[in-house]
Amino acid sequence: MGVKRWVGAWPVYRQLTGADRLGRGRAVQSRRSAGLGPRTADADRVADSVCPYCAVGCAQRVYVKDERVVQIEGNPDSPVSRGRLCPKGSASKQLVTGPQRERKVRYRPPYATEWQDLDLDVAMEMVADRVLDARRRGWQDTDASGRPLRRTLGFAGLGGATLDNEENYLIKKLFTALGAIQIENQARI
Ligand code: SF4
Repeated sequence: MGVKRWVGAWPVYRQLTGADRLGRGRAVQSRRSAGLGPRTADADRVADSVCPYCAVGCAQRVYVKDERVVQIEGNPDSPVSRGRLCPKGSASKQLVTGPQRERKVRYRPPYATEWQDLDLDVAMEMVADRVLDARRRGWQDTDASGRPLRRTLGFAGLGGATLDNEENYLIKKLFTALGAIQIENQARI
């Protein structure tokens, strides 16, 4: 390799002598990085979504290729976040594609030491049965003086910080309609 070509391979030389004085473009590209392209460029489709991590509810664009999520970025159309994601939201692709993500319903029966797989429909029925049973067992129709209460102390609602306004609104409505009076959010505790 000639001296001129050798020196010309230095990014700092190209930065000082070329048009890319800030070293953000061609001056700092290697042969390998010059051939790279963004994962978003060849996605099959883009789905709109919302970051699941906190109640800010930043909007996301989910890039899908071959039915797999290949990238998640902020959606500039959102009036809430205007295309931005914090570091946690920027890493939410890991949440979707990470190898430790559970993809089946897991159930550990009372006193069992091992988890087992459960069919989703069966699990939903079990949750509904437990809600109805707890509601019935904790039901208070009247107080000691016969005044109407029509409430249950059988369960409580505890919202989490990953729930957004709309989810909290619906959960509050559901639990109130079921007769619960103990409805809280983790953010207030
Ligand atoms: S975790 Fe970050 S990106 Fe996600 S909604 Fe909250 S602020 Fe937005």
